[in-house]
Amino acid sequence: MYQTKSPRGESPVSIIGAGIAGAWQALLFAQAGHAVTLHERSDADMTESTSHWAGGMLAPWCEAETSEPVISRLGIRSLDLWREHFPDTPFNGSLVVAHARDRSDFERFARLTSGHRRLDAAGLGELEPSLDGRFREGLFYPDEGHVEPRRVLPQLHARILQAGGEIKFNSGIDVAGAEGVVIDCRGLGARDAEPELRGVKGEMIIVETDEVELSRPVRLIHPRWPLYVIPRGDNRFMLGATSIEAEDSDVSVRSALELLGAAYAVHPAFAEARILEFGAGLRPAFPDNLPRISIDKRISVNGLYRHGFLLAPALAELTLGYVERGAIDNEVMRCK
Ligand SMILES: Cc1cc2nc3c(=O)[nH]c(=O)nc-3n(C[C@H](O)[C@H](O)[C@H](O)COP(=O)(O)OP(=O)(O)OC[C@H]3O[C@@H](n4cnc5c(N)ncnc54)[C@H](O)[C@@H]3O)c2cc1C
Repeated sequence: MYQTKSPRGESPVSIIGAGIAGAWQALLFAQAGHAVTLHERSDADMTESTSHWAGGMLAPWCEAETSEPVISRLGIRSLDLWREHFPDTPFNGSLVVAHARDRSDFERFARLTSGHRRLDAAGLGELEPSLDGRFREGLFYPDEGHVEPRRVLPQLHARILQAGGEIKFNSGIDVAGAEGVVIDCRGLGARDAEPELRGVKGEMIIVETDEVELSRPVRLIHPRWPLYVIPRGDNRFMLGATSIEAEDSDVSVRSALELLGAAYAVHPAFAEARILEFGAGLRPAFPDNLPRISIDKRISVNGLYRHGFLLAPALAELTLGYVERGAIDNEVMRCK
């Protein structure tokens, strides 16, 4: 039996949606001794989730270029939770580079972000030998990390089971009919309850080559969107990601050219890489692009937009704090 001071008593906890938001909720609630059932409408491969398509960068300092301070605050707290629960997570930083013609955008990025060190060409080459001689300078964010979504989601699911939680795949359920404390983490699937939600398309490509070695994500400053190359192990790299106000899951020729061009600009050996996959996911976003925990008869955790992996642990901690102690974070929580 667990003891809880929860205003909701000792009810079971039903979490709907096993993407990154729901998986972290289920883990923290199960570890705190709650009777958790995590429902997911798709199978364990999770190919219907946005999380399946993500880069998995844990980059609160780089993301400050385009996001509100609350993203950095929650993101930095999440890094502690990733470290605590997944000590093998690579926290070896990330790099930002630019070609000479994009120098002013590079300086702007440096001004708008903190937590970085400037590297000259030699420093860049020491950190990432494959980039030796490719760029005159770079920004190094030493405390950032990254996870591989398609590996970490099954790991999270396994941890939930170890902590005594139950997971039901192929279990698309009606939120109104769910039992006990209900935490709705359906992402874009929650539009019946959250009509303001929209999808922001992110296209990505996975390539394979043994001619480039990178140890950390490399962002290339680009006039339209930040494009990046993330090493995935086994000679694979993810090239991402566009950000388009559209809700289809097609990859356009223009986006493919830009993503492949960015990889080629980071290192010309990518020209010989094998393309393994093109794909796109829809980021669930509210009009302000900020995450929201809405509290009503049920609790909804949504709007993780481009920061699901960065924010999910901290959002789960906040939800647990609310259920157990009634704690409210005014920046993120809304009581309806
Ligand atoms: C190309 C791309 C790159 C990205 N890169 C990053 C990154 O580097 N770092 C980062 O932090 N974020 C990144 N993101 C953003 C991140 O992927 C999202 O914020 C995150 O995946 C949203 O997670 P979620 O759990 O809210 O939604 P989802 O992952 O979509 O999960 C929701 C789940 O609910 C399930 N569901 C829906 N309805 C029901 C129902 N009725 N019953 C049961 N289950 C249901 C769905 O099947 C789905 O599995 C990226 C996104 C994209 C597209």
